Amino acid sequence: MYSLLAGIVGPENVSREDFELWCYSRDAGSVFPQLPECVVTPKSKKQVAEVLKVADRYKKPVIPRGAGSSMCGAPVPLKRGIVIDLTGLKRIKIQDEGGLFVRAEAGVIWTEIIEVLKQRGRGIGLEGPWSAPSATVGGSIAVGAICMGTAKYGGLGTQILGLEVALADGSIVKTGSAANPKNEMVMRDCNGADLTGLFIGSHGTLGIITEVSLKTYPLHQAEAYYAYSFESLEDAAKAVYGLAKDEIAFDCRMFVYPVPEEIGGRAGVVYMLKGSTSQVQELGEKSKKIMRLAHGKNIPKFGEQYYKGRFTARVKAFGEAGPGWLEVAGYIPILRYPDIAKEIINFWEKREEEAKKLNVKWSLGALLETHSINIPVAIFCNEVKREAWQRINNYWHELAELMYEGGVSPYWIGHISSHIVKRWGSYYQLYKRIKKTLDPDNTLNPGML
Ligand SMILES: Cc1cc2nc3c(=O)[nH]c(=O)nc-3n(C[C@H](O)[C@H](O)[C@H](O)COP(=O)(O)OP(=O)(O)OC[C@H]3O[C@@H](n4cnc5c(N)ncnc54)[C@H](O)[C@@H]3O)c2cc1C
Repeated sequence: MYSLLAGIVGPENVSREDFELWCYSRDAGSVFPQLPECVVTPKSKKQVAEVLKVADRYKKPVIPRGAGSSMCGAPVPLKRGIVIDLTGLKRIKIQDEGGLFVRAEAGVIWTEIIEVLKQRGRGIGLEGPWSAPSATVGGSIAVGAICMGTAKYGGLGTQILGLEVALADGSIVKTGSAANPKNEMVMRDCNGADLTGLFIGSHGTLGIITEVSLKTYPLHQAEAYYAYSFESLEDAAKAVYGLAKDEIAFDCRMFVYPVPEEIGGRAGVVYMLKGSTSQVQELGEKSKKIMRLAHGKNIPKFGEQYYKGRFTARVKAFGEAGPGWLEVAGYIPILRYPDIAKEIINFWEKREEEAKKLNVKWSLGALLETHSINIPVAIFCNEVKREAWQRINNYWHELAELMYEGGVSPYWIGHISSHIVKRWGSYYQLYKRIKKTLDPDNTLNPGML
């Protein structure tokens, strides 16, 4: 098998070296690592398909991997096998003259697309997750990543015009309008069933995304940033609800624990507006009214400082407790936020002494998605301390139980909540039937969902 793989990608792009296997044994999170048998780095979509054919012949697990920047073990090779590193798929194509849509291979990272489009006076709607300088488009679609701009555009699926996917047997399928070989990937909702959606969030268990087509937009003229402090979670949630109802924010986040010193109070809300100069002015005035009605106190300058420093926002937490990191997150209706947030705070209060002793830190916040709110809880520790590592893995599972049993719907779940989704009878049964059809030998990222 190894020589067949080397024949496809070239001997320099396949490895069984211990050092490399260790590098691919984990993601950015603190899930216990597992060594794959080998790692291949294809440089073309055709090579991905050929590697899959070999894996299919030997019934070997195949784990697609982008940047490996998940904090939930999503690309950890639980059953060993072949890790396919997709970062070698790098082509970006502006298809039409006006650049209305852009095609990107799976290994392209978000900031690369943004840069290419910027040179043509265009941008993408969702600007990738906060790991945009390293996360790949393929990996982000495979986990349904929540992106910068989610308050305005919603989930990643709203921006995807179509996908090209390599299936477990090495065959290639194009979804949406490009299913017709004489058409391009310009429209997702056509032909009948939406097969694009099948692969969004599927964690590489149903196929390997090799290419995506995304919508583009004219570059905006103006931006504005705001930050407010609130004395209660209820007021902060009301403020976020107001922004959602009137479709005001491009991006909006809430801090509950810790609340940055500059903001103070019980909770903080930051948001960003985008549009023409007059739109941004008008939206700004509307938003100020919403904040006033929710008893928010304006904190000048913090919003801009926060958004402009977003790629280093987590550095402080790492410095204090890291680099161990796990995260559990999901969606709920906006106004339910305070109830579930209080349960999470209560969870930590009960473990305060133990967490302090192990120098475990945690954070609780929120991100507005057009019609719902995302509730992320991050846990940090120094992995060198074995006990701390073990404890944060336990906390992670306990929190997942608390949140998902409390009605939160998981996204970007990795293997944390596969056992929880299994409890949802008919949904899980349907997923299993689809999986069995597309991947009868369960070779694609086995054990993940
Ligand atoms: C500093 C930092 C900030 C972050 N901010 C965010 C954030 O704002 N929002 C958010 O949602 N996440 C965030 N993350 C988590 C993570 O970066 C994102 O979810 C990212 O989208 C994952 O992309 P990746 O290329 O690293 O995927 P990987 O971690 O490599 O893979 C993720 C999953 O997708 C599968 N996969 C990878 N590529 C493919 C493919 N081409 N086809 C099919 N399956 C594939 C893998 O098997 C795995 O199951 C952050 C992480 C860090 C370190």
